[in-house]
Amino acid sequence: MRACDVVARLGGDEFVLILEDVSGREDVEGVARDLLRILSEPIQLSGHECNVTASLGVAIYPADGTDIQTLTANADTAMYLVKGDGKDGFRFFTRDTRTQPIERLTMETNLRHALERNELLLHYQPKIDLNTGEITGVEALLRWRAPDGAMLPPCQFIPLAEETGLIVPIGLWVLREACAQNMIWQRQGMRPVSMAVNLSPRQFVDERLLHDIDAALAISGMPPNLLQLEVTESMVMQNVARAVRVLDGIEGRGIHIAIDDFGTGHSSMSLMKQFPIDTIKIDRSFVRDLAEDMEDQAIAQAIISMGKALGMTVVAEGVETIEQQAFLRRHGCDEMQGYLFSKPLPPGGIADLLRPPHAASPRCSRAPRVNPKQQSLRSTSEGRGTSLGAEGGDVTFSSDKPPAFG
Ligand code: C2E
Ligand code: MG
Ligand code: MG
Repeated sequence: MRACDVVARLGGDEFVLILEDVSGREDVEGVARDLLRILSEPIQLSGHECNVTASLGVAIYPADGTDIQTLTANADTAMYLVKGDGKDGFRFFTRDTRTQPIERLTMETNLRHALERNELLLHYQPKIDLNTGEITGVEALLRWRAPDGAMLPPCQFIPLAEETGLIVPIGLWVLREACAQNMIWQRQGMRPVSMAVNLSPRQFVDERLLHDIDAALAISGMPPNLLQLEVTESMVMQNVARAVRVLDGIEGRGIHIAIDDFGTGHSSMSLMKQFPIDTIKIDRSFVRDLAEDMEDQAIAQAIISMGKALGMTVVAEGVETIEQQAFLRRHGCDEMQGYLFSKPLPPGGIADLLRPPHAASPRCSRAPRVNPKQQSLRSTSEGRGTSLGAEGGDVTFSSDKPPAFG
């Protein structure tokens, strides 16, 4: 920065930079690139390495505004686009970006009301033990039935909920709803299964997290050991000392902890040992081409070996084919989750999967087809392996899909 430039903190994690006398966009681009590079260098805090990224939005006087309010609002708009693109970058404000805040604002207003209007719902995706074929648990996955009737997946609204802080009340709702649903299944006579709930970065640093978890367990009556909280590498690496404290608090309650999307973030093995983690979930990106990609095979094997060496349960995400399943089973992966067995389902769909075979639901008028070979191999999983459900609908028994157990 030059002596004539100004850097000021607006509040929270927002800063403003005023660059005077720039000769053109290239100058500003140079400054933005330098800033991002400098900020990306690791910082040592109390002996731990921390990484930060920045999202920069640029507005230029007079083209993008002739007063301070317009300039900062337009820079802000450009910055939000960078965040929407995955953060860690910069963008210049253009006329086209101006329409975005209105859509964003409408969505934000709608999302604020989503909770009170009962528009949020949870689907559940089973996790399967690769040895026994039993369902070990389910993961709660959030959906939003928006006012226009569209069913939105989390990637379309969780980033906004995260930015606005709405994820905290929404996350609390998810926790309560998931625990309550698990107890409803038990009261309906299903055997107890573990319930995994995703935590967001903002929730993870929220002071009331442990209190909210306690409340969800107390209200539902769900035993803590049936709850598994999913966090990501970046969430725990952001502030290691604090993460250890929070995770210890969670573990101390008898709750399980999983690292989600493992392999996509930065984590140090020596630090991983400090966290009371019992499960790692191999990210879907390493599972997708597992049948043919040698690098993915090596990565998956390495994660499985590391997880086993640390005494953890290893779960593979996004398993869609029998070949992927066979590879994972051969290399000692413990559990799998993916469309091969089942897509995320509404609560009724999970009840159908969990229901003991002799107590068939009236909705399942047709007996599921079981491959005879598979039946003899895995008598314990009879009837479960062939049920595949369409997301958002009832469970259907499919005769043309490959059986889930190869
Ligand atoms: P995740 O926790 O890694 O969840 C797994 C995602 O992979 C889900 O997407 C699931 O539908 C999808 N998936 C599972 N099996 C397969 C497969 O075989 N093939 C393919 N192509 N996809 C598969 P979904 O439901 O769209 O959720 C996306 C992400 O949104 C989740 O990733 C999680 O990070 C986040 N999320 C979902 N629910 C919540 C929530 O309640 N709170 C928070 N903070 N985040 C949530
Ligand atoms: Mg997850
Ligand atoms: Mg995941």
